[in-house]
Amino acid sequence: MSSHVSIAIIGAGMAGLSCARVLAAGGVQVRLFDKGRGPGGRLSTRRAQTPLGELRFDHGAQFFTARSDRFRQLVRQLETGGHVARWNPRWAPGHEDGAERWTGTPGMNQVIKALSDGLNVSWSQQVSAIERRADGRLSAITATGDQLGAFDAVLVAVPAEQAGALLRPLAPTLADEADAARSAPCQAVMALFDPPVAAAFDAWRGDDPVLQLAVRETGRPGRGGPDRWVLHATADWSRAHLEEPPEVVAEGMIAAFRDLTGAPLPLWSAAHRWRYARVEAPASAGSGSPAGWNGAVRIGCCGDWRIGGRIEAAFLSGEALGQAVLAEFAPVS
Ligand SMILES: Cc1cc2nc3c(=O)[nH]c(=O)nc-3n(C[C@H](O)[C@H](O)[C@H](O)COP(=O)(O)OP(=O)(O)OC[C@H]3O[C@@H](n4cnc5c(N)ncnc54)[C@H](O)[C@@H]3O)c2cc1C
Repeated sequence: MSSHVSIAIIGAGMAGLSCARVLAAGGVQVRLFDKGRGPGGRLSTRRAQTPLGELRFDHGAQFFTARSDRFRQLVRQLETGGHVARWNPRWAPGHEDGAERWTGTPGMNQVIKALSDGLNVSWSQQVSAIERRADGRLSAITATGDQLGAFDAVLVAVPAEQAGALLRPLAPTLADEADAARSAPCQAVMALFDPPVAAAFDAWRGDDPVLQLAVRETGRPGRGGPDRWVLHATADWSRAHLEEPPEVVAEGMIAAFRDLTGAPLPLWSAAHRWRYARVEAPASAGSGSPAGWNGAVRIGCCGDWRIGGRIEAAFLSGEALGQAVLAEFAPVS
């Protein structure tokens, strides 16, 4: 493959990075642009200023499973590098299902940090449009109208609801596929307890009208410090409270957590709204393809929303797109 082929990827989450790694290994020059201030996406780790100093919370995805050979291979590499570890929490009684779970160490965003290593990623770079230049090549355009280079292809690796608008002008069929996917929101609360929560478990999930998951941050590999928890609300509760002020969200979710665990009032808490958290209806139900690629206009898309709401799905979608793009460019190299 000619190293003169130059490709931009919008979004440096698991999908964008997985795609970039396939392309880079195939000899393509890849640039990634991500609006986040640093590595994370939905595998974020928040540094919060609390009365007990700066503390870290994984407020997005808490863990992942690995089922396919390809993803298991990546997880093994990440484990060898010290970037992930098995997570065997003490589940609340009746909640253990025997699944093999993994988490980033010391935080979930370490997975994204490790995967972006060696790649050309520009953070704090929000792309608002893809345009065709007069010379036929493509450019990513920022909200302030800046052109972020000239590329042979542009790939969109952002949540479906944000992908649609980027794809629509030049690749309307891919935009239709993105619009067909649907994500559920998730309200998340980070809470610090002093005195600690007396519960004899580090993870809870179950049947509750408010909460779907509660995880003790300090019960996870590579984490220490004061007792802190991350709470995730159910999709229904999150939807019903999507536009509520964060303090109101935190109050409702902490009340539910205290009912479940007998926890004291937290010393500090904060809420974070994930507007597009987990895929409820993937696009592949309609398109049948783990990634979208239009060779005529040289625009593609990938993300968990092509397959299903899991980190592994984002990885597999990114790889599939990378391979489709390599196949397109190989004959002309
Ligand atoms: C609360 C929560 C809990 C979850 N729990 C689990 C779980 O237990 N297990 C599991 O497997 N998965 C879980 N997930 C889902 C998992 O996090 C996602 O499936 C996966 O991270 C998706 O990766 P992605 O690369 O497709 O998207 P993302 O991680 O969202 O990456 C997209 C990237 O694009 C960037 N971006 C967006 N728009 C633009 C733009 N216009 N310009 C530039 N950059 C842009 C974003 O900053 C982001 O970094 C959870 C997610 C959340 C939010």
